Amino acid sequence: MCGIVGYVGERQARPIIIKGLHRLEYRGYDSAGVALVGKGGQIDLYKCKGKVDDLEHFLEGKDTTSTIGIGHTRWATHGEPNDANAHPHFSQSGRLALIHNGIIENFRVLKDALISHGFSFRSSTDSEVLVNLIEYIQDTNECTLEEAVRIALQQVVGAYAIAVIERGNARRIIAARQSSPMAIGIGEGEYFLSSDAASIIDYTQEFVYLNDGEVAVIEKGKPLQIKNLFGEASKVDIQKLEMSISQLEKGGYPHFMLKEIHEQPDTIVDCIRGRVNPETREIILSGVLDNKDKFLKAGRIIFVACGTSWHASLIGEHLIENLCRIPVEVEYASEFRYRNPIIRPDDVVIAVSQSGETADTLAAIEIAKRCGAFVYGICNVIGSSIARATDSGTYIHVGPEIGVASTKAFTGQVTVMAMLALVIGKLRGTIDMDYYHQVAGALLELPETIRKALESAPAVEKLASIFTYAHNFIYLGRGYNYPTALEGALKLKEISYIHAEGLPAAEMKHGPIALIDAEMPTVVIATLDHTYEKTVSNIEEIKARGGKIIAVISEGDTQLRKRADFCLEVPSTAECLMPIVSIIPLQLLAYYIATNKGRNVDQPRNLAKSVTVE
Ligand code: GLU
Repeated sequence: MCGIVGYVGERQARPIIIKGLHRLEYRGYDSAGVALVGKGGQIDLYKCKGKVDDLEHFLEGKDTTSTIGIGHTRWATHGEPNDANAHPHFSQSGRLALIHNGIIENFRVLKDALISHGFSFRSSTDSEVLVNLIEYIQDTNECTLEEAVRIALQQVVGAYAIAVIERGNARRIIAARQSSPMAIGIGEGEYFLSSDAASIIDYTQEFVYLNDGEVAVIEKGKPLQIKNLFGEASKVDIQKLEMSISQLEKGGYPHFMLKEIHEQPDTIVDCIRGRVNPETREIILSGVLDNKDKFLKAGRIIFVACGTSWHASLIGEHLIENLCRIPVEVEYASEFRYRNPIIRPDDVVIAVSQSGETADTLAAIEIAKRCGAFVYGICNVIGSSIARATDSGTYIHVGPEIGVASTKAFTGQVTVMAMLALVIGKLRGTIDMDYYHQVAGALLELPETIRKALESAPAVEKLASIFTYAHNFIYLGRGYNYPTALEGALKLKEISYIHAEGLPAAEMKHGPIALIDAEMPTVVIATLDHTYEKTVSNIEEIKARGGKIIAVISEGDTQLRKRADFCLEVPSTAECLMPIVSIIPLQLLAYYIATNKGRNVDQPRNLAKSVTVE
């Protein structure tokens, strides 16, 4: 969702900014733009609706040798996606240009006040209000740009990452953040700026991550300065980001999503590395072990998450209730934050987010902290806002996930939750140690198990061609695999735009079975577990009403081979890890149906990768 890239140094800014914007494209956006301080000190601004490629065409033949600039990909929140609403935005006089990620919630009040001072507006965005507010403050207070930004931001309610440049100043960018990420890359005599450090990893591995309420003065030839909104200096903490450029490329696959599905045997190796000891089968999660008393005393565990992370959390609920005997609740972060929830000091709140930037989850964390709960994070992106806002946590370490539809992050999250449940269960003495070692062994074998599950890809591709033109799907599962059904349905919706609904299998007869006819395919996860026989009965009920069954079955299951219309086999593992394996054919099914329909699977319509607005 929306992106910022900036540069100031000795090199030409334009190619650096364009490359960075291309790296951010996967997040979803509707327009792009760039502003550069030209040779004569003027600000040259180029922006248009559409893709970064369109912006590049627009820039062809233009004199853009500038060594300072800011670029943006917009995901519209206020005002339709068009050229005028694209960022950067000029201030009224054209002296300042600004890019903004986020939402200025009180923009209307500020806009009315500015109109009464004689300002007029070229766009319908909230962002243009901010650049004019900064200009107004700079003019009336006769202060520097940095001071004007600080004073303006004191009046702003909302979320932002901004970058501002000024006519006549080819050395300096002012940047600031509140609830929206911003990283400053440190080079040799040059600075980079991005809402996602990975987008500028080609140039530097050293980053300073801005904290909420901080303003940075990024000036060529001078040390980086960071202050709070009241002008007090903050510490400049430089962190190293280890990431290889190949992780950001497709590596021969037609889509990032397919690459990420096939990467899962390796990403699970990275996820369990150093955590599950292959000799002793002991599991070490320092985030838990360093905070033993919190987990020993925990009266309740509350997961807060959105989307796929919420589905993974439902599996976490089963794991923790089963192995640790702690009551668990799973909450949509967006509902939790506005519900005046009951949180007790002995609650442990687990926040789950791939990007670590999900706005609603961040807000839920703040509420939990205010109520005195211990907050644990499960994130993928190192140094992300959630990773920093939580008291402790575990990274899933699956590498950058570029496909908008989450795949490897889901399996990484469930793997971390399994390790978490085993460690807490052992601490609390609620788990049988033979079972603990058995599941730890299954975790070690998981990469190989997933590799085998991926062998179903050609069969799934064939099946997808039969169902490409279905208009609806139902996905069913029970127990650990009920959330897998929800996640399988979500994958299909996200990338193929086919309506799909996930349900607990036994719920069918309470209503949804009315939908069954020959036109309604039902995907059932029916692997050999303690609910298998019940699931088989649910399949019979659907077949009796003329429904078509696609069953995900365990290797060697001959009973369902005979009963289901189509079968996809997966290898077995410990029952509590089964979702990590049974989701594989469902990820592939969504992928192949979507590609058959010619969908843009990596950037599906209307979706953004990390949801940084509420
Ligand atoms: N709220 C701003 C707009 O609609 C910024 C959106 C974004 O984050 O890209 O232009």
